[in-house]
Amino acid sequence: MKENMCSECNACIQICTHQAIQLKVNQEGFAYPEIDSEKCINCNLCNKVCPMQNGDKTKSVNIKTLAVQTLDNKTLQKSSSGGVFSLIALYVLDQGGIVYGAAWDSNMQLHHIGAETEKDLEKLRGSKYVHSDIGNSFREIKEHLKQGRIVYFTGTPCQVSALKLFLRKPYDNLITSDLICHGTPSQKLFNAFLENMEKELEEKIIDYKFRDKKIAGWSCSSSSALSVKKGGKRKYHIYDKNMRAYYLAFIKGDITREDCYQCPFTTVERTGDITLADFWDIHKYHPTFPNLPDGVSLILINSNKGNNIWEQVKSKTHYQLSSLNIAVQTCNKNLYTPTTRPPERDTSYRNAFEDIVKFRDGYLNNENPRKIYLSYYKRKIRNNTLIAWIWKRTNH
Ligand SMILES: Cc1cc2nc3c(=O)[nH]c(=O)nc-3n(C[C@H](O)[C@H](O)[C@H](O)COP(=O)(O)OP(=O)(O)OC[C@H]3O[C@@H](n4cnc5c(N)ncnc54)[C@H](O)[C@@H]3O)c2cc1C
Repeated sequence: MKENMCSECNACIQICTHQAIQLKVNQEGFAYPEIDSEKCINCNLCNKVCPMQNGDKTKSVNIKTLAVQTLDNKTLQKSSSGGVFSLIALYVLDQGGIVYGAAWDSNMQLHHIGAETEKDLEKLRGSKYVHSDIGNSFREIKEHLKQGRIVYFTGTPCQVSALKLFLRKPYDNLITSDLICHGTPSQKLFNAFLENMEKELEEKIIDYKFRDKKIAGWSCSSSSALSVKKGGKRKYHIYDKNMRAYYLAFIKGDITREDCYQCPFTTVERTGDITLADFWDIHKYHPTFPNLPDGVSLILINSNKGNNIWEQVKSKTHYQLSSLNIAVQTCNKNLYTPTTRPPERDTSYRNAFEDIVKFRDGYLNNENPRKIYLSYYKRKIRNNTLIAWIWKRTNH
C-alpha cells in the first residue's frame, strides 16, 4: 500500500469478514493495511470501501454557508470554535440517538467512541490534532442504524467518506459532520512529546486541550494540559515548551500523515451533511457578528438532511448568512487545497524520535512565553471583573 494512498480509516479491516487484513505500523507510528494472501478470497470489498480510491460519489449541494455561535456560553467556552458540534450532538441525544467522535482514553490515546449521555459528550468536545483510531466503530454504527437509532458521526472528511462507503447504502437515520481539516500527526509522535513533558515535569498528563479559550480566547494556538503530581495534586499548564513546539510543527505541516498532502477531500464539495470549521477572518466579512473573541463556526450545509438538522438547532444560536465565496476567501486554505508538504517533512519524524528535545527546541526560536501568560491573566482578570460587576448589579 502506497503511504500517500491510505488515510488509516480502518474501513477495509472492518469490511473484511475473513480477517485477511491487518494494520502494520511504520516507524513514524502510522498504520497501513497488509493483506494476508492465504486468507484473502479476492472479493475486492476492501478496495470498494477505500475513501482514498473512491472519494465520495454523492455530490453535495451547498445549500447554505453560515457564521454560527451557540447561545450557551458554557458550551461555547469549551468548544474549539462556535460550538455547533455540541448543539447538533445534544439534539441527537435528545432524540435517543448516539454521537460518534474523537475522545482521549485514560492513557491519552485518541479513539473514536460513541457517546450516549451529556457527560460522555464532554469527551468528544474540542479539536485534537492527532490521528483518531476508528477501531470497530463503523461496525457498531451499522448495528445502531439497522436498529433504527439516529447516529451522528463526526470526523475528518476521509473518516466520514469511509463510513459512508463502508455502509454501502444511504441511511436516513445517519447524520454526518466532516471538518475542514489541516491533516493529522501520528499518536506515536504525540506520545513522544507527552512523555518528554511528563519526564521534565515529573507529573502525569491526564488531559490535553489544543484549543483552550481560557488562554487566548478563540485562537488556534492555545494548548493546555492538566497533570497530576505524585501526591495526587492536579496542575494546570498554560505553557510548556513541548506543547508549544508540537503545535508549531503541526501548523507548519511538518508532521502530517503522508496522504494528507494529497487529500482529495480538500474541496468545497463536501462529504458530510454539515461541515464544521472555524470562521477565521470573520471580522472582515461579518463585522456586526456579536461576541467575536469567543469563537464563531463556519458552517456549510451540504444536504437536505443537514438543512433539516440546522432548522432544529438554529434558534439556539446567533447566526448570519454567509456565502461559499466568502468561505474560500478566509484563511481556511484546507477548504480548497491540501496542506503543502514542506521539505522538512522528509526528516521530521526521524529527527523527533532520535532526539525529541533537539527537535522541539528547533521550533522555539524567539518564542516568548510571557505573551501567553499575559494573555491568560488578562482574560482571567477581565472575566473576574465581569463576575464582580454582575454580582454588584444583582445584589442592589
Ligand atoms: C485534526 C483537525 C484539523 C482541523 N483543521 C481545521 C482547519 O484547517 N480549518 C478549520 O477551520 N477547522 C479545522 N478543524 C476543525 C475545527 O478545529 C473545529 O473542530 C470545528 O470548527 C468544530 O468546532 P465546534 O466548536 O463546533 O466543536 P468542537 O467541540 O470543537 O468539536 C470537535 C469535533 O471534532 C471532532 N474531532 C476532534 N478531534 C478529532 C480528530 N483528531 N479526528 C477526527 N475528529 C475529531 C470531535 O469528535 C468533535 O466532533 C480541524 C479539526 C481537527 C480535529
